[in-house]
Amino acid sequence: MSIENTLLERSESKCELCSAVENLAVYEVQPGYTGSVDDSVLICETCRNQIENPDNIEVNHWRCLNDSMWSQVPAVQVMVWRILTRLKNEGWSQDLLEMLYLDDNTLSWAQATGEGETAEDKVKHLDSNGALLEAGDTVTLIKDLNVKGANFTAKRGTAVRGISLVADNAEQLEGKVNGQQIVILTKFVKRSN
Ligand SMILES: [Zn+2]
Repeated sequence: MSIENTLLERSESKCELCSAVENLAVYEVQPGYTGSVDDSVLICETCRNQIENPDNIEVNHWRCLNDSMWSQVPAVQVMVWRILTRLKNEGWSQDLLEMLYLDDNTLSWAQATGEGETAEDKVKHLDSNGALLEAGDTVTLIKDLNVKGANFTAKRGTAVRGISLVADNAEQLEGKVNGQQIVILTKFVKRSN
């Protein structure tokens, strides 16, 4: 049976978020979509539009989550969690989020797209003075650094242009010294203005 048919059966031919019966299509729940029914939800065009274009979100449409939040299907729970999180400034969605129970795996999946994270929650890279570093910045080394795996010392005062930040590690950045891309600890650099 195709995914669509399986989903039609699971959902009783209704949008799994708002119960609409028209313009239903399979929606792949990312990340880690494996092409299985377990990673898919059947949703209507209205829901899809709003999920894909957060600027068009109609807050009241999502009152439907009041019902769909009780779905036993993890992929549906993930979508409900993400939308409620997107609407967390609304009192009612905050209330629903508090009632919504997701097991640990489902919650990690729901959070995997970074929905609901504010800039403050994200990994911050700070230089030796505590100044915020951004990709593309130029930094200066504040001490001589022995570069592991390469046969040179990056000298204090060397400017490293166009750095990139190591996404999941606030203490590391990458940049080119002597033509080689190396990892540098943020505590050993100073941002140049
Ligand atoms: Zn819908």
